[in-house]
Amino acid sequence: MSDLSAFSLEGKRIVVTGANTGIGQGIAVSIARAGGTVVGVGRSAMDETAGIIAGLGGSFSEARCDLGDHAAAQAMLDELWDKSGPIDGLVNNAGIISRGDAVDFSEADWDSVIDVNLKSLFFLCQTFGRRVFAEPGRRGKVVNIASMLSFQGGIRVASYTAAKHGVVGVTRILANEWAAKGINVNAIAPGYIETNNTAILRADPDRSASILARIPAGRWGGPEDIGDTAVFMLARASDYMHGAIVPVDGGWLAR
Ligand code: NAP
Repeated sequence: MSDLSAFSLEGKRIVVTGANTGIGQGIAVSIARAGGTVVGVGRSAMDETAGIIAGLGGSFSEARCDLGDHAAAQAMLDELWDKSGPIDGLVNNAGIISRGDAVDFSEADWDSVIDVNLKSLFFLCQTFGRRVFAEPGRRGKVVNIASMLSFQGGIRVASYTAAKHGVVGVTRILANEWAAKGINVNAIAPGYIETNNTAILRADPDRSASILARIPAGRWGGPEDIGDTAVFMLARASDYMHGAIVPVDGGWLAR
């Protein structure tokens, strides 16, 4: 006998930011495979993700929003809720990275990364929390995407490291405030995953080889490696998990 209902997202409507590509696309596809309805949120067309999910017989829609503007992001989430009904889960995946020596790092590169990776993430959580708490008995799940640079310093990525350390703090404080009120807030810390975000690293033969040599699993991760962990964090199976930061990193942090 097999009963995987605790891991099912059947009947759940989940918002995934940055679902057009990379890790966000992997998460969206995993959610659809688990029976959930995905609402992709981002600034670019999501035709590829829509096509993959349609091919699986799943349900996908998209909403356009530039997450550099947290007020616009909050208004978009409110509008989604008002026009199409309640949302059961929020995956804050969208993120950018800027590289530069700390001594030369510009305010623009600081602000743009903090705005998308941390500020909009927090304020989307805030709107989600307000909407869930406005309906007595409703529950919700938040999954934030952190990084190895939530734990390590990195190099030439000052604003990204600051933002990703901040994602851990925000995940923990919201878990503390919301655990008893019906919202689980957790985070996934991906290791080195093959996406646009890491294209520069993979194009540099020395950097790429040194990263690979340090990963116990002996390979870079794929977006699908993150997707199924997200499904667990969105499903009933993780109802007693609050404030956890789960590395999915091929063993990088264990090294
Ligand atoms: P990616 O392929 O570059 O995708 C980033 C996503 O964020 C895209 O959908 C992008 O949309 C969206 N986005 C960026 N700025 C936005 C904005 N202002 N408004 C709306 N959407 C915006 O990168 P990824 O590797 O999949 O990264 C996804 C998440 O995982 C990020 O939070 C990243 O920090 C984290 N992460 C990645 C790795 C890795 O190894 N790849 C490791 C640790 C953590 P556009 O396509 O329109 O730009």
